[in-house]
Amino acid sequence: MGYFLDTVRALGTTFKHLFRKPVTVHYPAQKRTRSERYRNTFALLHEADGDEACVGCLQCERICPSQVITVIAEKKESPISGKRRGYAKDFVLDLNACIYCELCVQVCPTDAIVMTRVPEQPGYSREELCLTMERLYENETQKPLTWGTASKLMQMQDPKRGQPPPEPKVAKKAPAAEAAAAADDAKAPEGGPAGPPRNES
Ligand code: SF4
Ligand code: SF4
Repeated sequence: MGYFLDTVRALGTTFKHLFRKPVTVHYPAQKRTRSERYRNTFALLHEADGDEACVGCLQCERICPSQVITVIAEKKESPISGKRRGYAKDFVLDLNACIYCELCVQVCPTDAIVMTRVPEQPGYSREELCLTMERLYENETQKPLTWGTASKLMQMQDPKRGQPPPEPKVAKKAPAAEAAAAADDAKAPEGGPAGPPRNES
């Protein structure tokens, strides 16, 4: 009897939800609208003059908690300016273990690495989720980039952001100087303070 009642109760729950408007979507044919701040894979950027922005400083590699970034740095002459500077000779970011914390973006001193706004980065093998330097530079032109460069994220996280500007400092006299000035004022004849001693000769 107990089993029968349980079955009827379960069927009742099923029928209660049978004609309800579905809350799921038919992914991947149908995709939900992503929020403006949604971020996924990465891109390496060029400077406005066409030079590579990455200077091979390894800061992103050092900060990465998942240790999925490998940068091989080198120094060479810039093909644009002719000056000797740092570059990434090789750069690999393995998305397989990336936790999308964005710390690598935040520490970059040259705004060279940013995240993109692609909804997802699927792959059929682990290798497909390994972003080589070539793929990272391809993403710069082929994927919509987020606004979140290191400089802009730093501005956003500034604790003084949104606060009123500090009041201008008024120079305050030292107590001894104030007392001396008061004594001078007391000695001075009416009509203003005494002037310098006159030469009578
Ligand atoms: S988002 Fe975080 S885990 Fe992923 S590569 Fe950058 S620092 Fe590493
Ligand atoms: S991407 Fe930025 S933090 Fe990483 S090596 Fe290049 S310049 Fe340094």
